[in-house]
Amino acid sequence: MALARYFGRAATAASQVLQGFQTKDFEQLLNGLVIGIAFDETACSSEGRASLDLAVRLVARLYPNICFLPEGDEAKKLARSLSALARSINGQIDIVRPRVGAPSQCLVVGSASPDVACPQMFLGSDGWMAKFSTEQPVGSGNSSNMFGAGAAACIAASNLFRAIFNEQIGGATVDRSVSFSLFDYAPGSDANPPLEANTILDAVFLLGLGAIGNGAVWALARVPGLQGQLGIVDGEEIDQGNLQRYVLALEKDVGRSKVKLARRHLTSQARFSLEEHPYKWQTLAGSHSLQHVVIALDTASDRIAVQAALPRWTINSWTQRGDLGVSHHRFDGELACLACLYLPTGSVPDEDQVIAQALGLEDRKMDIVRPMLHSGAPVNVELMHEIASRLTVPVGPLLPFVGQPLRSLYQGAICGGVVFELTGGNKPVRVEVPMAFQSAMAGIMLAAEVVKRAARRDAPRWTTAKLNLLRKMPSDVITERRAKDRLEGCICQDADYLDAYRARYKPVASH
Ligand SMILES: [Zn+2]
Repeated sequence: MALARYFGRAATAASQVLQGFQTKDFEQLLNGLVIGIAFDETACSSEGRASLDLAVRLVARLYPNICFLPEGDEAKKLARSLSALARSINGQIDIVRPRVGAPSQCLVVGSASPDVACPQMFLGSDGWMAKFSTEQPVGSGNSSNMFGAGAAACIAASNLFRAIFNEQIGGATVDRSVSFSLFDYAPGSDANPPLEANTILDAVFLLGLGAIGNGAVWALARVPGLQGQLGIVDGEEIDQGNLQRYVLALEKDVGRSKVKLARRHLTSQARFSLEEHPYKWQTLAGSHSLQHVVIALDTASDRIAVQAALPRWTINSWTQRGDLGVSHHRFDGELACLACLYLPTGSVPDEDQVIAQALGLEDRKMDIVRPMLHSGAPVNVELMHEIASRLTVPVGPLLPFVGQPLRSLYQGAICGGVVFELTGGNKPVRVEVPMAFQSAMAGIMLAAEVVKRAARRDAPRWTTAKLNLLRKMPSDVITERRAKDRLEGCICQDADYLDAYRARYKPVASH
């Protein structure tokens, strides 16, 4: 009994990236592993502690057996608090004593040299630089910039996953040596300026406190001297399925508001004003002027709707099959607006389509799925029987979702892994459930963009920056300038919308 209670969700996520996935094999393999986490006094630096914190938050959600290998008194003390953290993430986790079980893979922070026979993965950071190596310690800086430290934990967790499941991930290999700048994402870059002493957020709203939002808050909570105003917006509560990849969430948080969870982490930021908005962003848009918007929402339609509300600028983030990333948008000018990237003709399938497909209702998308998603109408018993029969699963476990909106059925039964477990993992679930390290990385990049934009008071020259953590870290350029929609079908190519945008932001229209 060491696998997390929310293992079904983890298996759903893994099934999407692993070929020939079988739940039983996956479970067996995980149960047979012990993940070592070794660190010494040098890992007790500010950045080392941040890397360890996030590494534990990622590893403890998936792997049922972990083993701390601290060297020195301070490291031993830190190991005790990290053990407590791991247990609060998965109450059933087995914290293996070093002498009983030899680790099968070992993450190493600082300059520790653990006495283990297994492969070692060294992670560390220096300010904006995330570092990783399979050969030698990379060191952890003592700066006040935790972006490299957080990204390094994600890169290490992705390498751990690739190493363990390499036969089941096409083309996946482990990185040998990584030095990745969160400052400019450029290949071979060593851009690493000091973090500004005071980052002032100018009435920024963070929409969505899901898995990416959790990663972003983890990082923002660690930015020294954050000032200004941040509004955090999400109407939902944490459910058990969320624990699989919400880095901030502990088991005791199930049922608590996502906004409250974020606030708990941001209270360390004494000098800025935090506004809590525990409801949907659409509600907020009715009463507030959303000028500076940071987006960690799930759906294409939400993103298009945010853009249609005409914020001055947006910073967007995503995880999807194949990549994760961040993007910057204005509305006028020559570059893509947010909606340009998410038009139905674009590369991202719309939510109606994804949900219809997942529920086996592809042919009923227009007459059932779309209207029900729009109205929030509850699912009745008849429709539930229809869905169960189309998915060839027994209806019983789905009946608790009767009376709930279709979206809740989708989130609970499909994303939450109910249907997946009913089929023993044999029926691939067509739903996007990223691995925890993917969402966390997107969140850290999102927070990094917020902080850099505040310091520079402008967007970078690129539109998107994207990364695939199921592959080796890229050696080529990951940023790209994106033009507006080629078919001229976007609202940013509509004269009325453009006039409204320019009228709203007149004083800066000449920028
Ligand atoms: Zn556009």
